[in-house]
Amino acid sequence: MAHVTERLPVAVLGATGSVGQKFITLLADHPWFEIVAITASSRSAGKLYTDSVDWVQPLPIPEHVAAMTVLPSDPVNGAKLAFSALDASVAGDTEIAFAEAGCVVVSNARNHRMADDVPLLIPEVNPDHLALVDHQAYGSGAIITNPNCSTIGLVLALKPLHDQYKLRQVGVVTMPAISGAGLPGLSNPEFSDNVIPYIAGEEEKMASESKKILGLLNGSHVNMAAFDLSAQCNRVPVMDGHVECVSVCLEEPATIPDIIKAWEEFKGEPQKLKLPSAPSSPLVYMRQDAHPQPRLHRDLGRGMTVSVGRLQPCSVLDFKFVVLSHNTIRGAAGGAILAAELAVAKGVRGLRYG
Ligand code: NAP
Repeated sequence: MAHVTERLPVAVLGATGSVGQKFITLLADHPWFEIVAITASSRSAGKLYTDSVDWVQPLPIPEHVAAMTVLPSDPVNGAKLAFSALDASVAGDTEIAFAEAGCVVVSNARNHRMADDVPLLIPEVNPDHLALVDHQAYGSGAIITNPNCSTIGLVLALKPLHDQYKLRQVGVVTMPAISGAGLPGLSNPEFSDNVIPYIAGEEEKMASESKKILGLLNGSHVNMAAFDLSAQCNRVPVMDGHVECVSVCLEEPATIPDIIKAWEEFKGEPQKLKLPSAPSSPLVYMRQDAHPQPRLHRDLGRGMTVSVGRLQPCSVLDFKFVVLSHNTIRGAAGGAILAAELAVAKGVRGLRYG
């Protein structure tokens, strides 16, 4: 890892929400990035962060952030990089305004994910897609996006299979955690003693985003991967950690030991570059019958490792297995920070530290 002498000033947009709080926690001691501005809606702007936020993280609010004044979500001076955890109702225009003001925006919102010239990035899976920013018309700014939280865990597990055996069909049933629905989280009575078999737009997003991420870069756009994907998404009463039951049909023959080996040997560019947020293993295969479980395994690799288990032959498709990933870390703030680290390591739009 390069030696860093001066941290890059960054803004967190939507800093008061579920993902915004995770950004604040993960960036508190980040070796490359320093929070210099936090923004939210007009309901919070003008207040001290500590007075505006319903803090739901296990660690206390970092002192220097607690004392910061929340700004309105307009482009701010001094931040070359912005992490967006804005609600989708405002993320689209706000992120463009920041990019036009010369900021590199790394977004968790859905708004720009499927635009031809916007990288939809999982740093271990498609780091080459970062080159799409060269086709954006934001001058020294840019927009990079993080996929949907359920898509990230799924695609990390699919990537070694697609590379080695080519996916033909994928079926996935997701059990996303409550924190994936933003605040107020557990205090929403709908989530108690319940399973909700509908998350607006999520099933369509999982299909389209997976094909873009696993697609091939072709100059100014990505040729979508050709497999079929059918998703069913159900909100379940788990605080953090999305579980997904996956079945796959492959183009090439594979065995169970082949597939486990492919997962266990999988590493990406973040591991080669030793990026600060890169886990040593992006994927871990668990051999115990009843693993992985959210409570036991969501924090593996500081929430950045995806756990896979229960690989079995499938009597309908070829194989089936279970995936678990931390939705607000790997699936949101941690994934976006890793994407920003990759962008900095590659010098995207002149981003530099030190
Ligand atoms: P959230 O808890 O509802 O937080 C939304 C944030 O957006 C808050 O900071 C809120 O500020 C701000 N906001 C709302 N309306 C605004 C406006 N008109 N102008 C400026 N700011 C406004 O949502 P979340 O779960 O953190 O999700 C944030 C984004 O990440 C969403 O786009 C979501 O789809 C995406 N995402 C979430 C997850 C997850 O696991 N939760 C995972 C991946 C992606 P106030 O507090 O002032 O209202």
